[in-house]
Amino acid sequence: MTGDAASLRILNEQIVACERCLRLREHCTEVARARRRAYANWEYWGKPVPSFGDERARVLALGLAPGAHGSNRTGRPFTGDGSGDFLFPVLHEAGFASRPAALSRDDGMKLKDLWITSVVRCAPPANKPTPEELRNCAPRLDQEMGLLKNLRVIVCLGRIAFDGLLAHAQRNGSLPARSGFVFSHGAEFALPGGFNVIASYHPSLQNTNTGKLTRPMFLAIFKQARKLAGLA
Ligand code: SF4
Repeated sequence: MTGDAASLRILNEQIVACERCLRLREHCTEVARARRRAYANWEYWGKPVPSFGDERARVLALGLAPGAHGSNRTGRPFTGDGSGDFLFPVLHEAGFASRPAALSRDDGMKLKDLWITSVVRCAPPANKPTPEELRNCAPRLDQEMGLLKNLRVIVCLGRIAFDGLLAHAQRNGSLPARSGFVFSHGAEFALPGGFNVIASYHPSLQNTNTGKLTRPMFLAIFKQARKLAGLA
């Protein structure tokens, strides 16, 4: 294991142990205690959700936050809910994921050239983190981006992730101003510092059930990410 891979694992352990946002920690714990009837036999994860993927990734998928009965139950990003059911078949077809379905932390899923993380690591009520919670979790993203040394392309899943990435670039001084960076599905930007950014609608049920985001649209995003990352 390289030093950066070990550091990413340590960072993940620190994320899992984080208690900084009282409202989010209480919410996740309560959801895990009450459970959904369909998952009554599950022992929910209930902790902050660590990032997942290939430490040598050239592509980063940046999401919003864990789902209350998805990642907050399974302990892995986009695993066990409708968003993940839409995302992983696309990642599999685009060559990033070893399997087309993500069910649990021990389902054997492996990612290649892709790292998945989010701007907030604890499931927020109504999927809406507060500005303070976003700020609290931001240093994790800063640390993570610094450790992903091969990173070339960032796919922002939704407007909040897009804003979170721009805020990261402003914190590290690589983006003096946000003018010209406007979210729209499929938009591409070159960030000063050498990263390519692709904006995408989030694969939430709200977007996928209404046809706002279709599978061909989403597959095109990840194929473009491969191309920009120089992956075959
Ligand atoms: S959202 Fe981030 S900062 Fe807040 S408690 Fe969870 S891991 Fe910690």
